Amino acid sequence: AGGSSNPEEVVKKYLEELNAPPADEDCIICMEKLGAPSGYSDACESKTIRPESVGRLAKCTHTFHLLCVLAMYTSGNKDGSLQCPSCKTIYGEKTGTQPNGKMDVAILSESLPGNEDCGSIQIMYHINRGIQGPEHPNPGRPYSARGFPRYCYLPDNEKGRKVLELLKVAWRRRLIFTIGTSSTTGESNTVVWNEIHHKTEMDSNTSGHGYPDPNYLDNVLAELAAQGVTEDCLRS
Ligand code: NAD
Ligand code: ZN
Ligand code: ZN
Repeated sequence: AGGSSNPEEVVKKYLEELNAPPADEDCIICMEKLGAPSGYSDACESKTIRPESVGRLAKCTHTFHLLCVLAMYTSGNKDGSLQCPSCKTIYGEKTGTQPNGKMDVAILSESLPGNEDCGSIQIMYHINRGIQGPEHPNPGRPYSARGFPRYCYLPDNEKGRKVLELLKVAWRRRLIFTIGTSSTTGESNTVVWNEIHHKTEMDSNTSGHGYPDPNYLDNVLAELAAQGVTEDCLRS
């Protein structure tokens, strides 16, 4: 998604330039005062943004040097979205760096512990090993994909089906997995879960990623929301 819009336009779309910036406040990106030029003036050059320019994010009203936001944006995956470094509010549609793969869904009649009143939903994620792209930690180097397909479970009730639809949105936005170092195995340059927890055990809980867990659906809804995936995404 995005990619085609110019980084300076993305910055100007979400931040309003201030004529009278709060000069004594700090820019939390470069740690300089907002009354002083951006600390990224040398590292990040722009024809249209001056080092002294300060802007305010529309919804959360946090303020930064515009050049600092430009430097932050260009060091990310440049998907046309911005995330406030202070409060994490997302502007636009955040996407991740999940490698290519496939998400499949099956309905099972078997119930999950703690959800005996309904059957269950099984999600299968398929990802193969490959070569890292420019958005990954080591572009051009291989990445491994261990333990795929990975199977995950949701209760087949109203809330579980809603979580499933939001997980499909998160999958399309490449937010479910990323490439990095596995905290379980220590292996680097490998496909790992991103910040949206999944239940990979159906009828046991030896890993802590199983059922019963009465808070799971609420927790995963909060994790999806932190990535900008909410019920609003299902209406549009
Ligand atoms: P990770 O260990 O770097 O952890 C990333 C996130 O995933 C963390 O939030 C963690 O809490 C969560 N997580 C860890 N183990 C999980 C599990 N079993 N089910 C659901 N969530 C889990 O991430 P990773 O390396 O992608 O995940 C590790 C898990 O992947 C292992 O526990 C294992 O089940 C599976 N794995 C299997 C093989 C294999 O060859 N079969 C190889 C590597 C990993
Ligand atoms: Zn700054
Ligand atoms: Zn903010």
